[in-house]
Amino acid sequence: MQELKRIGKSFWFMTPVSETDRPTLGMVVGDNRNLMIDAGNSEAHARLFLEKLTKQNISKPDVVVLTHWHWDHIFGMSVLKDVMTISSADTKKEMNKLIAYEWTDKALDERVQKGTEIKFCADCIKKEFGHERNIQIVLPTLTFEHQLEIDLGGVTCVIKHVGGDHSKDSVVVYIKEEKVLFLGDSIYPDIFSSKKNYTSKHAFNLIKELETFDAETYILSHSENMNRMEFLKEIELQKVVGNLTEKYKGDAGKIKDAFRQAIDRPLNEEELETINLFVNGYEMNNT
Ligand SMILES: [Zn+2]
Repeated sequence: MQELKRIGKSFWFMTPVSETDRPTLGMVVGDNRNLMIDAGNSEAHARLFLEKLTKQNISKPDVVVLTHWHWDHIFGMSVLKDVMTISSADTKKEMNKLIAYEWTDKALDERVQKGTEIKFCADCIKKEFGHERNIQIVLPTLTFEHQLEIDLGGVTCVIKHVGGDHSKDSVVVYIKEEKVLFLGDSIYPDIFSSKKNYTSKHAFNLIKELETFDAETYILSHSENMNRMEFLKEIELQKVVGNLTEKYKGDAGKIKDAFRQAIDRPLNEEELETINLFVNGYEMNNT
């Protein structure tokens, strides 16, 4: 069930759907302009969000910001063609590569075979679109390298390129007056390599960027929102495991022993999974 929710005076979002990988969509409503965050994984997805907002008397966006180039964040762009779209320069570069692609079952299966697409995405595209593959890649209008600030009237958005393991073009959107940080997929691991992974280098750089924002609510594209406490706990776990991974050169046994000793209790699922991801990243970069 996709629900429309509101935080503070100006931020609205629609909750994600895991079966078809529909991400969270956001709308920042200013006195003069509205800014939408991510375009959705299909025209149907984008339209549903806009319809729900219309019922709340919120008009169409004047600006759309794309958090990164992955299909589920950009395939809804074709219903937003007349709207100014903003992305990082890297996002546009990656989207450009998708223009030549076909999206039939056959083409998707071939790319999965070749290793240029992952099965999870191919399956979700098939489920989201059924037989109607009306997929058109619409490129962003405006690109930037580091950071942009947009005054929507009474509310300001800072759009910042932060990178990270999931997708190096990732940007986050900070809604200043609401203390909301829209993280997109930025803090998720790299799920496109042969093994899912985090690397200490990229994780640490990302954390350093994210720590500069004074936020109270953190919006994730495919999971529940986090409050500040939960966010700090998450990045602390990544810092600890990243440091242990470097110290013990990716030796999973030694990392687990050292972590267990430090916290004086058995490791939980999340901690074990995080170790696994960092060890994968270490192996990929050091063997
Ligand atoms: Zn993604």
